[in-house]
Amino acid sequence: MIIKKTIKSVQKYLNNKKPKLINKIAFIPTMGALHEGHLSLIKLAKERQYFIIVSIYVNPSQFDPNEDFSNYPRTLRTDLAKLKKLSVDLIFTPKIDDISKYTFKKMKYSTFGIENKLCGRFRPHHFPGVAEIVLKFLSILKPEVIYLGQKDYQQFFYLKRIIEQTNLPMKVKMGKTIRENSGLALSSRNKYLSKDDHEISVHLYKTLKETRLLIKNGLNLSSLLKKQKKKLLKIGFTKIDYLEVKRNDLKTSTKPHKKSRIFIAAHINDVRLIDNILI
Ligand code: AMP
Repeated sequence: MIIKKTIKSVQKYLNNKKPKLINKIAFIPTMGALHEGHLSLIKLAKERQYFIIVSIYVNPSQFDPNEDFSNYPRTLRTDLAKLKKLSVDLIFTPKIDDISKYTFKKMKYSTFGIENKLCGRFRPHHFPGVAEIVLKFLSILKPEVIYLGQKDYQQFFYLKRIIEQTNLPMKVKMGKTIRENSGLALSSRNKYLSKDDHEISVHLYKTLKETRLLIKNGLNLSSLLKKQKKKLLKIGFTKIDYLEVKRNDLKTSTKPHKKSRIFIAAHINDVRLIDNILI
């Protein structure tokens, strides 16, 4: 397993490997604190026998000013051990100065209004910050395919659109959400949950599944969503940013169908959790 810490060194390494690697690189961007959700994306890429590059980079640009950037879990040593076990080919762990020196700061993409909906509405810096850095990584690493998780469906959809719009020659693939036995989607932020908060958090996925069932039973959507939000607050969630149904293209769904998703973001004290399921 090769570890590269600078843009120059990773590019030198990849240039020397060419042309053997052309069309063979799969890229999995992460912020570290790796769990089975991240590892599942690596396993997907392994099935296709790609040369696998995993980046570990806690990206300051995608945190809003009041968010947990400095406290975000950093567990490089255990991350590297997990990646070694999976025989990942190359790890890229650049420093902030190296990556952020030349980027298209807060570049405005034609964003089909993502900044006004769901997470975009509550975290205005988030998606532009993700794009700024992921596009930089893509131009350094030039992968054939990038793997992203369904747990962050909005991010998947946003990046896929931008990659299409900027004509980057790469595929974007989605891996399914990996969950604990309780149903809670794995997330690096779950570490912040106390035992009591964890008990509350499992109601996020339960509520998504129950809402799906009730939608299928034909209940009125807007009163159902209101009722479910109230229920979550009663259970112990401290704030619900949104519980909404959108189509797969994130447009508003008046009549939910197979290609609609239920999206949720909710807080338990300082921890913000997100999830989504297909109807
Ligand atoms: P992060 O380190 O949180 O930026 O996530 C890196 C990648 O892992 C993103 O594509 C996420 O969508 C994906 N990911 C995070 N959690 C999960 C999960 N529970 N199941 C599947 N993929 C996940």
